[in-house]
Amino acid sequence: MASENCIFCKIINNQLPSTQVFENENVLAFKDIHPTHETHYLFIPKKHYSRLDQIPDSEISVMADLYQAINSVAKKEGLDQAGFKTVIHVGEGGGQVVFHLHIHLISGRKLK
Ligand code: AMP
Ligand code: ZN
Repeated sequence: MASENCIFCKIINNQLPSTQVFENENVLAFKDIHPTHETHYLFIPKKHYSRLDQIPDSEISVMADLYQAINSVAKKEGLDQAGFKTVIHVGEGGGQVVFHLHIHLISGRKLK
């Protein structure tokens, strides 16, 4: 279910462009528009949750779906060899800017 005016819901619904790197039934991943590192992707659930702590306990398996997708992309692109990190910002004080749950997948050289 899309949340009105959510840019990531618009990406899911193809109302906004993105460079996709992964898709399955529950998850979409695409390149961050302002990458901080050589590899910088965002993994989002297709269902709208505003933040990590807004996922109902009964739906927490969406986090497994997201990390499964991350492992799959990391393996496919050799990031498991290079090493990578994942980051989740929660709330404005936690650095969150887009309020549709997402996990940053970051690897490689830091960009200036
Ligand atoms: P956060 O601080 O975790 O909320 O980060 C939001 C991220 O979304 C930032 O790294 C932005 O560069 C990225 N972003 C914002 N709009 C878009 C977009 N239309 N396509 C891809 N990435 C985006
Ligand atoms: Zn959304």
